[in-house]
Parts: sequence; C-alpha cells; structure tokens
Amino acid sequence: MAGAATASVDSDSSSPIVTARDVTKVYKRGSEPGLIGRIVGRSEPPAVHAVDSVSLEIAPGEIVGLAGSSGSGKSTLLHLLSGLEQPTAGTVSFRETDLAALSARERTRHRLENIGIVFQRFHLLDSLSARANVALPLVELGVPKRERRKRATELLERIGLGDRITHRPGELSGGEQQRVAIARALITDPALVIADEPTGELDTATGQKILEEFKQVAENRTIVLASHDQETLEICDRVIRLRDGAITTRQTQEVNR
Ligand code: ADP
Ligand code: MG
Repeated sequence: MAGAATASVDSDSSSPIVTARDVTKVYKRGSEPGLIGRIVGRSEPPAVHAVDSVSLEIAPGEIVGLAGSSGSGKSTLLHLLSGLEQPTAGTVSFRETDLAALSARERTRHRLENIGIVFQRFHLLDSLSARANVALPLVELGVPKRERRKRATELLERIGLGDRITHRPGELSGGEQQRVAIARALITDPALVIADEPTGELDTATGQKILEEFKQVAENRTIVLASHDQETLEICDRVIRLRDGAITTRQTQEVNR
C-alpha cells in the first residue's frame, strides 16, 4: 500500500493507553410507552445522556481524576473506558484496539487481563477469606492454586494486611476491606486501574491513608479515579470535570505534556 504513511508504532511508550473519541452513552429511562401508548399520544420517557460526546486520551503512568457531582456521568464513563459497557456512539480504544471490534467474550478477557477495578462498596465475597478474594481474578486466568496463594499473600503483605489474610470481609474494617479490594484489582498486574469513588465509604482520614497506599502499591500504573471529593482528587496528575455527561474543564495539577 504505497502512501500508507506513518503506520502507528505499536510499542511507543508515550502513545495513549486509553482513548475515547466522541463517546456518548444514552439510557432510556423507564419503560417504553409501546404501540398503544404511542397511539394515544403518551410521550416517550426522556432519554438520559449519561455521557455526552466525551473525548480524552490517557497516557501510560498517568493518574487521572474524573470529577463532578453525583449523576454527572463519572461511573458511566469509567464503565465505558473499561469496556464493561458499550457506548451508544463514539469509540473507546485500549492501546490500538477498538473495544467495539471485540466480541463480548473477548472484552471480558480484555478486562480480566488489562484492567483492575476498585469499587466504592468493595464488592468482596463474604464467604471467602481476604486472600481468596484477592486471588479470585487469577482463578479465572487459570493460575495454579499455589501460585495464586503466593501472589495474593505477597500483595496483602505489601498493602499492610499480612496479618489479616485468612479474615473474612465481615471481620475487617471498611479501610481494610478497601485494601483487600485494591489488592484484588492489582493481582493480575493490570496496565490500567479504574477506581470508582474508592474513598466514598470511608472517613476522611482513612480515605487519605488508603489512597496513599493505593498509589504506592499501584507503582507506576495508569489510574483513572472518579470522585466528587476534592481531597481524593489531589493525588491525581490532572482532573477532568464532568457536568451532565460532558467535559467542562481539564485541570493540569502538574506539568503535563
Ligand atoms: P455519577 O457516577 O457521576 O454519579 P452516573 O454515571 O452513575 O453518574 O450517572 C449518570 C446519569 O446516568 C445519571 O443521570 C443516572 O441516573 C443515569 N444512569 C446511570 N446508569 C443508568 C442506567 N443503567 N439506566 C438509566 N440511567 C442511568
Ligand atoms: Mg458514580
């Protein structure tokens, strides 16, 4: 193909890890009125543009904050960036791969291998020990039990829970449960870590401590973190602010680019 100039260099360390181009997610609220409803003139439920034409690029090693009040679209955007949900319009790419080009099964695999997710409410399994919770993603990846236990124990030790590995979530404090959830997100060595309101359930002091540990244990991994809390956003290199699903401002907290 003469003229196919500058094919993208695949291992360029500065090329974005995640790219969103004009990404929109529309939810139809409530039930559809249906045929009868339309005949009698009942109006359609209003559609919600949870994310509205968002474009962004996230470089390897960046810690990016998504700010905005409740309902501004932070969680939805995180779900789109991770491939957990598909956009109504626009594209999300992980490195050079357009997530829409993958089958549902391939997207699940992609998430398992490349993305770690930390949720606000920890999402731990109550019947499993801290170590078994942390090791869970490795079960799906087919890692042998011995290796799983070894890696989960090491990670729990690094995050300061070496003496809690056989405790169940119900026997741990909120901060400890979030540390377990962080360890679970990191156990697969993901290139991208997504955290949705990771301090939302914790008191301020505990939240700050957990964030510091998170940053340390995540090492130089790329993190996208949603929060409406200014103190939480302070660990970010830059903050993207959302309102009604759209980007309002991009703040650079350090020299960036
Ligand atoms: P945030 O995380 O910033 O609080 P969300 O992304 O959860 O915001 O929600 C953005 C908007 O999309 C809100 O108006 C919310 O009600 C709506 N929304 C989110 N998820 C759904 C869904 N599954 N179905 C319908 N509406 C949704
Ligand atoms: Mg949210």
